[in-house]
Amino acid sequence: MYGQGLLKGLSISIKHFFSKKVTQMYPEEKPVLPKRFRGWFELTPEKCTACGLCVNACPNRIISIESYKDENNKRKLSKYRMLMESCIYCGFCVEACPQDALYNTQDFEKACFFRQDLDRILYQIEPPAVQAGGSEE
Ligand code: SF4
Ligand code: SF4
Repeated sequence: MYGQGLLKGLSISIKHFFSKKVTQMYPEEKPVLPKRFRGWFELTPEKCTACGLCVNACPNRIISIESYKDENNKRKLSKYRMLMESCIYCGFCVEACPQDALYNTQDFEKACFFRQDLDRILYQIEPPAVQAGGSEE
């Protein structure tokens, strides 16, 4: 029949016009992300024991930590650094952490103009001078 294709096309358009919208008006409207979404990384330094397991778990070797021994000969974290330009968000580092000190947030809006902005220091303190010690990369 002549015009059958046109009618079919119109019926599809009308159906979609009245159906629930799936397009999100990003960035005004933020997406609802799954609970286990791997976004930017954060560290809880009080939980970190500077064990270095996350450093060893990273296939791209982008994590480096520095530590020192306190007055009780206990290892303490003094610096935690991630070079995010090479991160593939595999999650091995988070999985490897026995203290749940390292975790992913849902923040994904981290586009930047300069590579150096992806060199992230998650934590840094000045260690006591006499006891300054090891580092792992
Ligand atoms: S997510 Fe993967 S690549 Fe990124 S820092 Fe962790 S272990 Fe390394
Ligand atoms: S973040 Fe976790 S795995 Fe990495 S050094 Fe700290 S305690 Fe160890």
